[in-house]
Amino acid sequence: MNEMMNNIEKEMNQLLQRLFPINRSITGSGVRETLKILQEVVPLKMTEFSSGEDVFDWTIPNEWFIRDAYIKDSKGNKIIDFNKTNLCVMNYSQGISKTMSYQELLPHLYTLPSLPDAIPYRTTYYNQNWGFCVSYKQFQQFNEEANYEVLIDAEHKPGSLTIGEYYIQGNSKIEYLISTYICHPSLANDNLSGPILTAFLARELSKKRTRHSYRFVFVPETIGAIAYCAKNESKIKKIDSGFVVTCVGGPGNFSYKQSYNPNHYLNKLIVKIFNEQKLEYIEYPFNIFGSDERQYSSPGIGLNIVSIHKDKYQEYLYYHTSLDNLEFVKAKYIYETFAIYVRVIDLLEKNVKYRTTQNKCEVMLSKRDLYPKTGGMLFQSVSAQPDEFNEVKAIQWLLFYCDGKQTLLDIAIKINMDIEYLYVVAEKIKEKGLLIQVK
Ligand code: ZN
Repeated sequence: MNEMMNNIEKEMNQLLQRLFPINRSITGSGVRETLKILQEVVPLKMTEFSSGEDVFDWTIPNEWFIRDAYIKDSKGNKIIDFNKTNLCVMNYSQGISKTMSYQELLPHLYTLPSLPDAIPYRTTYYNQNWGFCVSYKQFQQFNEEANYEVLIDAEHKPGSLTIGEYYIQGNSKIEYLISTYICHPSLANDNLSGPILTAFLARELSKKRTRHSYRFVFVPETIGAIAYCAKNESKIKKIDSGFVVTCVGGPGNFSYKQSYNPNHYLNKLIVKIFNEQKLEYIEYPFNIFGSDERQYSSPGIGLNIVSIHKDKYQEYLYYHTSLDNLEFVKAKYIYETFAIYVRVIDLLEKNVKYRTTQNKCEVMLSKRDLYPKTGGMLFQSVSAQPDEFNEVKAIQWLLFYCDGKQTLLDIAIKINMDIEYLYVVAEKIKEKGLLIQVK
């Protein structure tokens, strides 16, 4: 199996193995350790936001420190052990150390009868509480008559919230945001697959001279994205649109979640790529119950944000359970989604604005050797090529539409032509002095 992997897949697989066991949360050492490991792929700049700082309507919480947690039965056997799986503690739990009855413990046990082998993932970031998450099979072993020794060796202290950032400067005035989140503990598709793909995408782009600029951010979900927006309003203003990379490593179908404007070009571009690769996909319309597009697309920020998924959050059976693990998620699947994202960027890089050098009446193509030698034919039969690859047609439309404002993709969609072909033709007539590229 391993020899079938390409080099990037191998690297992704090694990262999956290293990062999966780390106990992440919205703050704390797990996030920093994760970012530090990702720095081996791409030199992320780390920034800390202090606990207590206000960010729009929210406040950066105290940092969560957890050292140990368990439940022991009356014989002293650890029946639940944080060292075996970090999911067993409700994320952000308060500390507790007490021997208690089953009845007292019961309201603090979270379980999922519909998936009896799975430990559910639960959090209590903004509500002071503590809890244990157990599989339904484990839950059934508890004895209603017994007492249990319960320990969560955890505390909340002023500290900071950590984000990672990487910026690639291009020449055009167009900048894209590529955001992912880094706050889930040992859960593979949601969310470890996202930061892994994003780090490799950043590395891939860093090797090229890109036309556009790309801002990569790695944040704890929700509070991290809010903090980023609040602290970087001038940066956010420069962004055209972007992506939230999440749930990209499952075995199921591809899908994409539309941005709030369904006619935005990023939606059209993704559909075009799925179609050209003959991939089956599911289209999820925009809604406000998603990931960090909830922040970036809020009316005062207003960015169109899309996500490409391979097993979207909330849609797969193992979502937010211990079964979203490295049996379910494979480097191969992350690589497949990575290849789609690379293709998206590749086409964005060809999505250029041009302006015509003369726009009063038609230009004379024949004197520039751009028109067939024999005139008088029906326009459709000028070339035997399919319409979408018809050079004269492409030239005429480019000269009609290139006003310095519309992009090639806008034009490609209007006239139903292939964007890469339009790019080739546009560059050719640019050489002839008929178009100027606009930044
Ligand atoms: Zn999640």
